[in-house]
Amino acid sequence: MSKVLSLHLLDGARNTCKAPEPARLRLLLSSGLALTNFFKDNCLKAIVKTVPGPGATMIDVADPAITRPDQILVKVVATSICGTDFHIYQWDAWSSNRVKPPRIMGHEFSGIVEAVGSEVTHFKVGDHVSGESHWVCGLCLQCRSGQAHVCENTRILGVDVDGCFGSHVVVPQASAWKNDPSLPFEIACIQDPLGNAIHTALSGEIIGRHVAILGCGPIGVFAVGVAKACGAASVVATDTRPFRLDLASKLGADCLINAMEQDVEQVISARTNGKGVDVVLEMSGAPVAIRQAMRIVRPGGRVSMLGIPSEKVELDMAEDMIFKGLEIHCIVGRRLYQTWDTMRALLSSGSLDVRPAITHTLSMDEYDYGMSLMRDGLCGKVVFKQN
Ligand SMILES: [Zn+2]
Ligand SMILES: [Zn+2]
Repeated sequence: MSKVLSLHLLDGARNTCKAPEPARLRLLLSSGLALTNFFKDNCLKAIVKTVPGPGATMIDVADPAITRPDQILVKVVATSICGTDFHIYQWDAWSSNRVKPPRIMGHEFSGIVEAVGSEVTHFKVGDHVSGESHWVCGLCLQCRSGQAHVCENTRILGVDVDGCFGSHVVVPQASAWKNDPSLPFEIACIQDPLGNAIHTALSGEIIGRHVAILGCGPIGVFAVGVAKACGAASVVATDTRPFRLDLASKLGADCLINAMEQDVEQVISARTNGKGVDVVLEMSGAPVAIRQAMRIVRPGGRVSMLGIPSEKVELDMAEDMIFKGLEIHCIVGRRLYQTWDTMRALLSSGSLDVRPAITHTLSMDEYDYGMSLMRDGLCGKVVFKQN
C-alpha cells in the first residue's frame, strides 16, 4: 500500500507522468523492480512532433495505457527510422496535410508484451512482438476480400495515432505480430520495411529471373537480399550513391550501376544481349528511374513499383508499356499477413541475412543525428535500441 501511495505522490510531483494502470503496476511491483528504476523507466521520453513545422522534440510523455479490451501494451526494445518518419521530421507537404500534432512519432518496432486487454486471446505477457504499422478496419470490402493492405480506413501508427518512438506503445492485437524469441530485437524492428521489399519482390515470379532493382535505399537493399534468397538468376542494383551501392553488394547484388556515372539502359542491354531483364523492382520513385524501368524490362516482363514519386510522371505508355505487354504491379504496404508469414520463414531459415543493411544503432536521444544520416543518404537502416 505504501508503495502505491508513494507512486501517486511521485506522480503528482512529476506532473508529466500519470499513474500506471493497476494491472501494469501489479506486474511491475511483482517483478521486483525498484521504484526509482520503475519511474526512470515509466517516464522515458518520447520523440514527439509537438507543433506543426520542421524538427521534433524529445519530451516526457505519459506512458500509453490500454484503453480497449483488444489492445496490448508493448515495452519497446528497438525501433527504426523510416522514410516516413523523416518526412514528418522535415514536415513536407504530405505530412503537414496528414499529421495532427502533438503526435509521438515512429511505427517500426520490436518489444515485449507487458500487459494485455481483457479480450486479448493471441498474446500474453512476455511475448516478443512487432507490429504491422497499417491498422486496418477488417470490415471494408478490401479487408473482407483478401486485400486488407489497401483498406479504405487504414490508420498508420506514428502518423494517425501515437507511435513507438517512446518507452511503450499500445497496439491492437489484430495488428501485432509474434516474433520468435531468438530473433534479435534490432532485426525484428525492421520487419515493416523488409515486408515492403518482400511484397514487391514476390508480387510475381522471381525464381530463375534476371532482376533489376532501381534505388538502393533500405527497402531496395532489402529487396536485393530477398531476390537472391528466393532464387533470382541475377540481380542488378542501381543508385546514385556509392554508399548505398556498397550495401546492395553486401546483400548479394551481382552487378552495381552508379546511375550518375553509367547509362543504366546501356549496361543492362549489354548484360542481357539486348533483351532486357525479366523483372524490375522500382524502389526509388524517381521519374527518370520509372521511365527506365519500362525500357529495361523485356517484353512481357514484370515491373513492380514501390517507390513513390513526388510529382506526376510522364511515360511513353504506347511504346514502352502497352506494346511490350508489360505486367505492372503497384505495391503498397504488406499483404496481411502472407507477407509477414513469408518474412518469418526467410528470417528463421537463415536464408536471408539483413544485418549488413542495418548500418547504425543509436540511442533514442540521438534522433537528430539519425535524421541527419537519413537526409544525407549516409545510412542503411538506422535503429534505436533502448538500454
Ligand atoms: Zn516504415
Ligand atoms: Zn478495411
